Amino acid sequence: MNIKDCVRIICISILTLIILLSSVGIVYATSSQELRNQQSDIDAKIEQTNTEIAGVKSQMTAALSQINTLNSEISGYENDITKLQTQLEGVNAQITEKETNIAEQETKYAEQKKLLEERLVALYESGTTSYLDMLLTSEDLSDFISNYYLIEQMAEADEALLEKIENTKKQIEAEKEYLVSAKTELETTKQAIEQKKTSLASSVSKKKAVVSNLTAEEAELQAQLEEFEEDKRRIQAELAKIASNYTGEVVAPSAAGYISPIPGKTKRNITTGYYGYKGHTGADFACSSGTTIVAVKSGTVVTSTALRNSRGNYKSYGEYVVIDHHDGTMTLYAHMLSGSRTVSPGQSVSQGQMIGQVGSTGNSTGPHLHFEVRIGGNHVNPTPYLP
Ligand SMILES: [Zn+2]
Repeated sequence: MNIKDCVRIICISILTLIILLSSVGIVYATSSQELRNQQSDIDAKIEQTNTEIAGVKSQMTAALSQINTLNSEISGYENDITKLQTQLEGVNAQITEKETNIAEQETKYAEQKKLLEERLVALYESGTTSYLDMLLTSEDLSDFISNYYLIEQMAEADEALLEKIENTKKQIEAEKEYLVSAKTELETTKQAIEQKKTSLASSVSKKKAVVSNLTAEEAELQAQLEEFEEDKRRIQAELAKIASNYTGEVVAPSAAGYISPIPGKTKRNITTGYYGYKGHTGADFACSSGTTIVAVKSGTVVTSTALRNSRGNYKSYGEYVVIDHHDGTMTLYAHMLSGSRTVSPGQSVSQGQMIGQVGSTGNSTGPHLHFEVRIGGNHVNPTPYLP
């Protein structure tokens, strides 16, 4: 393990420090007070987070109710649009009807005109070719004259009829014109409503984006809350554990009587040494994965756990064990092989008893034992304690 890794460990393991502080008798009063302070800090954080969640929820409720209002306005507009569409279809049908009527009048007009032309031809023919001849040659002049006038009268009637058809057609065209302008008006109204609807729909999608952001925010706050609550549970557990506390004097390194945590190795085998608070918090023994780790001295297991992040991956010390030696010192064994811990909190261990195996769990780049000595919760240089 390099120095950087271990610096990171210091940052992550504040809680662990608290736990350790709590377990050393000589600083019993201070550490429990500290734990209580931590607990009220966390209580405040939990309260703050709950307030934030309530705020987010009320924003969400407001946004959702705005969406409901907008949606009901939209469906009102949709009804209007449907009505207008029906009206437009009615007007279109009327226009088509008028157009058919106009076409009928035009046909009538053409037929009538043709009839008139025929009569006029007949009249002309009788007037030019026959009139004088007939006057001179007709056997029955009165017949001819009556015939001629009859044609002329009929032509006059035809013209009157044509005018009537023309007038009817004009009237229908005027009606059609009116319908077309009504249609234009309906279309304008419909367009305006459609625009309103579109703008409301875009408001709705903006509000929905707001809601989705708020949902994400709430999820984040809930996750935070869960972490705080987990911290709280741990602290409470640790507070409960400070039943067996040490009241004697702290043993000196030479009198501690530690053996090596890795059988067969000595302080000369330390691969990364102790650098104090701003550096490495313990001594590392690089060894192959699965190497046996033993208790350096008899005592009681205070901690035997795995530190994991919210995704369930190992973090910080990974799988680690803390033993209280009831002489004012505690020892910590970190990065143990997954599932290799053989001791549980509260359990008594004897010197040399196997407690687990070397691994690389947590903030570690390769198999090694990270070994710490703690006095009053603070780490001290473990080297003088080791054989
Ligand atoms: Zn280390």
